[in-house]
Amino acid sequence: MPSNPTPITVAHGDGIGPEIMEAVLFLLEEAGAALEPDVIEIGEKKYREGYTSGIGAEAWESLRRTKVFLKAPITTPQGGGYKSLNVTIRKALGLYANVRPSRALHPYIRTHHKDMDLVIVRENEEDLYAGIEYRQTDQVAEALKLVTRPGCEKIIRHAFEYARQNNRTKVSCMIKDNIMKVTDGLFHRVFKEIAEEYPGIQSDSWIVDIGAARLADTPEMFDVIVTLNLYGDILSDIAVQLTGSVGLGGSSNVGDEVSMFEAIHGSAPPIAGKNIANPSGLLLGAVMMLVHIGQHEAASRLHNAWLRTIEEGVHTTDIFRAGVSKNEVGTREFARAVAERMGERPEVLRPVDYRPAERRQHAEIRHTARTTDRKDLVGMDVFLDWEGKPDRLGEALSSLSGEALKLVMISNRGVMVWPSGFPETFHTDHWRCRFLSKNEAEPVIGHAETLALLERLTAAGFHFVQTINLYNFEGKPGYSLGQGQ
Ligand code: NAD
Repeated sequence: MPSNPTPITVAHGDGIGPEIMEAVLFLLEEAGAALEPDVIEIGEKKYREGYTSGIGAEAWESLRRTKVFLKAPITTPQGGGYKSLNVTIRKALGLYANVRPSRALHPYIRTHHKDMDLVIVRENEEDLYAGIEYRQTDQVAEALKLVTRPGCEKIIRHAFEYARQNNRTKVSCMIKDNIMKVTDGLFHRVFKEIAEEYPGIQSDSWIVDIGAARLADTPEMFDVIVTLNLYGDILSDIAVQLTGSVGLGGSSNVGDEVSMFEAIHGSAPPIAGKNIANPSGLLLGAVMMLVHIGQHEAASRLHNAWLRTIEEGVHTTDIFRAGVSKNEVGTREFARAVAERMGERPEVLRPVDYRPAERRQHAEIRHTARTTDRKDLVGMDVFLDWEGKPDRLGEALSSLSGEALKLVMISNRGVMVWPSGFPETFHTDHWRCRFLSKNEAEPVIGHAETLALLERLTAAGFHFVQTINLYNFEGKPGYSLGQGQ
């Protein structure tokens, strides 16, 4: 056991939070973990005091000091004006990786997938979750999907390092780059680059739709899955549901500085204070915390005692099943049952043995600071709020293109409607009009040309709602070419 206790920040949360946290802190002590908890108040009470994100200054100070956060679920108040505490913490502290293991506990927990044992590593900060959304016209709203090279490198490397340190043999990437060639294409390209740095770990890639179908049908074929934020959000809920119980899931949110560990379920207000909540999700989150802070022995002892308790049929109400379970117990009794088995290992379920993995030195890890790709402005997409027929728009805009630019394409909801289109295509009031340099051999233009174009469009009575510059990188288009091109 490490002699110096590790300072951690603890939040007891709302609803069932306090009772499951009490059970878990008791078990951490019983497992021999050396911890120095600093308890903070977050959630409902703070929201009521007027903190719109449910967290105050002294809590931030504690998190910055300990850098390790064991968090019970909190209740997000209904109604406007409140911000999600989880999203606030994730973004403010740069918790870029959400790691969620999903393991079947057959035959003790009913599941169709008895050999399932996988981990989803979800990017946590980017993608459509950047929250950059606009209503642009009467009919059309838009969200920006942001994917960055540093963001991809961090999450993908985290997945491979996780696999290496946890003796996992394969990392699968899930993307939709047949459609989103630029954003998901970047994620996929970085995945292939980083996979080459880990020759001992297999890698494969899946288009997310068929990948998700295979996950739902044959989850045992996956080991570690790394994916973008939105797909990861959906896939990790599907995966944990396949194990038979959402209530048993723990997760970690990892950042460069601070990491947060929790159960995946919420605060379950209807069963709060009744001593019936299952503390297992938070307990497994706490096991991940112990591994993270290097207390591997305590992590193994706690996890194995818990597995032994489950296989002996000591179950809380949510997982109790006549014929399989033996004793239906409350939260406190379950914790005592785990404590009594401390030092035991499961006999049917596979035991765990967490070992310190040698950490790679930062210097060994290759980071791409910035590429030196040449970037040239070659055109602009102008989005117009306009009503009418595409041919009329094409004709009007062509005459306003000027000396340097030409109108090459108009699309509506991403479907090309000019110069060629189908009469059946539905049109909204949101038109993307692509202007490219007339000079194909030397396409580089300046901002003067694009600004002059906007002035001509405005003078002619067109309302532009958004413009996006089109760049070539090393002579290759850095934009999607649009349907039919
Ligand atoms: P929930 O996860 O709290 O409850 C869903 C169902 O699962 C309920 O039937 C509940 O009784 C049951 N359940 C959940 N955890 C259980 C446990 N440990 N033992 C036994 N049964 C359990 O989801 P919800 O009802 O949608 O949300 C309730 C509140 O929790 C909301 O305010 C929500 O915003 C919040 N929430 C917080 C977090 C978090 O802090 N990480 C996550 C999700 C939801």
